[in-house]
Amino acid sequence: MTTIGSADLDAVTGPMKHITAEERERAALTVCHYATDTADAAELLAMLGLAEPKPAPIPPAPTTPRFARNGPARRHIISLRDAHDISLARIALAAGLRNHTVGEILRSETSLQSTVDAILAVTVEDCAPPIVECECGATFARRANGNQRCTHCLLGQVPVGPAREHVKLLRARLTLKQIRAMSGFSEDTIRRIGSPDVHLARTHIAPETEARILALEIPGATT
Ligand SMILES: [Zn+2]
Repeated sequence: MTTIGSADLDAVTGPMKHITAEERERAALTVCHYATDTADAAELLAMLGLAEPKPAPIPPAPTTPRFARNGPARRHIISLRDAHDISLARIALAAGLRNHTVGEILRSETSLQSTVDAILAVTVEDCAPPIVECECGATFARRANGNQRCTHCLLGQVPVGPAREHVKLLRARLTLKQIRAMSGFSEDTIRRIGSPDVHLARTHIAPETEARILALEIPGATT
């Protein structure tokens, strides 16, 4: 390609900013005449400010959140709550919203369209809590807070199993009265701990209670 010095370049780029379209085209043709190939021509035209100006990129449209009136969502929430006795927390869980957001729908006139849509999509079935199995084996309806442990385990209680086995061994050799006398527990407590009847029996006990039960010596047991 024909070498153009930087001084020449400076001399031409300035004035060329203000030439007419016709002059621009003529200048471009001249440049192309000296260029060795297309790439060279493109480079020259760019250097001289003769290249077609690139269209400015179109800025993305600002994503304005769309708002919707809360009426239908509010009526849906009230219907779920009153007709089906579903708590707001469960509705929020099913809708993937925060409790606060659901409360806001009941109080305010408009919400994000997506929030309203999420509420309207919630069905009674969505709110049915799945059954969760605690690490202790107890099962319970999943709570809205997502807690995976049963109330007893949350309270620090332990499953009654080991204490129950111990009470069975004690009762095979002693009367309730004798166990009461040696343990200090009431007969009712001893019965409940030792009973396999699920309706009567305790399922969990305090760890201190378990320790006291397990410390009771079984008469005649070989140690
Ligand atoms: Zn548990």
